[in-house]
Amino acid sequence: PVVTRFAPSPTGYLHIGGARTALFNWLYARGRGGKFLLRIEDTDRARSTPEATEAILKGLTWLGLDWDGAPVSQFEGRERHAEVARQMLDNGSAYKCFSTQDEIETFRETARAEGRSTLFLSPWRDADPSTYPDAPFVIRLRAPREGQTVVRDAVQGDVVFGNDQLDDMILLRSDGTPTYMHAVVVDDHDMGVTHIIRGDDHLTNAARQQQVYQGMGWDVPVFAHIPLIHGQDGKKLSKRHGAVGLHEYATAGYPAAAMRNYLARLGWSHGDDELFDDAQAMEWFDLSGIGKAPARLDFKKLEHVSGYHIGQMNDADLMEEIAAYLRETGQNPLETVQIARLEAILPVLKAKAKTLPALLEQGHFALVARPLEVEEKAATALDTVSRGILVELTAALQHVSWVREELEAAAKQIGESHGLGLGKIAAPLRAALAGRSSTPSVFDMMLALGRDETLARLQDQAG
Ligand code: GLU
Repeated sequence: PVVTRFAPSPTGYLHIGGARTALFNWLYARGRGGKFLLRIEDTDRARSTPEATEAILKGLTWLGLDWDGAPVSQFEGRERHAEVARQMLDNGSAYKCFSTQDEIETFRETARAEGRSTLFLSPWRDADPSTYPDAPFVIRLRAPREGQTVVRDAVQGDVVFGNDQLDDMILLRSDGTPTYMHAVVVDDHDMGVTHIIRGDDHLTNAARQQQVYQGMGWDVPVFAHIPLIHGQDGKKLSKRHGAVGLHEYATAGYPAAAMRNYLARLGWSHGDDELFDDAQAMEWFDLSGIGKAPARLDFKKLEHVSGYHIGQMNDADLMEEIAAYLRETGQNPLETVQIARLEAILPVLKAKAKTLPALLEQGHFALVARPLEVEEKAATALDTVSRGILVELTAALQHVSWVREELEAAAKQIGESHGLGLGKIAAPLRAALAGRSSTPSVFDMMLALGRDETLARLQDQAG
């Protein structure tokens, strides 16, 4: 069975790249009936904060990526990491190194001066234990000196590292704490991780981590190192590109479903398919579809994907996305009347909106209460003639049945009696019904508002 994991370091918010890594692991596991685990890599005590962990969990939850079991804390596993390091001492795949920091520095300086490799070679690697001093030591991996370490990467292919480029890395520090590189391997093994999908900035680590697996005689998981995300300009993503944190996309009003679709396509492809739902993504997602070139952020494409998902979503899901958006942005939740009116116009709004705030902007009339504030631009349509027309219309609409044809017929008739087409009388109607000049069609608004509210709004501006 497939087991994947997302292993963020809790040192900040959830980055868009991290979210994409999590998504790939989630899709891979979910599409194969496997498990998707979460591990918080909190060994760096100085930089790890509970707030960051919370922000990351919140981001994953918003994105709709559910993980199996409780999140694992790497720091909590330190005893186990130490135990494995000692087992490696026992089986000879690791050794005690008594070299001091000063000695290592001196070694490096000399090597640099003499133009030799500065890779530290511990004199204790082959020392006779009877010569061991009674002093602090670190436990180092006994890495192979000769030959090559080949990472068989599902994305990058076979990546070859000369063993003379990899030093005997420290597994356990002299204070008994595990190094990050060692902890990752022990945790991945213990959690039964079968596939490690992560950023290619960890590719070199994979070579050294692989040596730890080998030292313990453990199966090496499948590695898939994915190229990092680049900005629209093709440069490595940084703050200056804007929108680096996942939360920025949430507050910009992209639905989570759209973000999943968009992020899935950032570095992975399935033929020409651009727009898809979770079920399709789970079915299609495979490591072979991950590209070797960095994917670029493309906000135009994101808008397009977002518009598609808003249009596709069923009304209940869309209302939930709207509620989540209002929460994310610290706005009040919708009230019952607002919900009813918005739901009534939703089919019209969702066909056009690219983002949730754009949808709410068009649906503004459904959210406001009387007396409406009329924007200056809209107010110019409310001249004396128009106000007269509103009076007549209010009277006419008392008795028609509340269906589009009848509303249209009534408006048309009154317009014609003044020698005005529908287009001309739409402007004062918009002003009265929405207080704005850019709105959905006046009849759609009337239908969503219902007779009583429509008539009341018309009356407010009439005469
Ligand atoms: N904690 C690492 C990071 O946030 C990920 C390590 C891994 O996936 O193996 O970059």
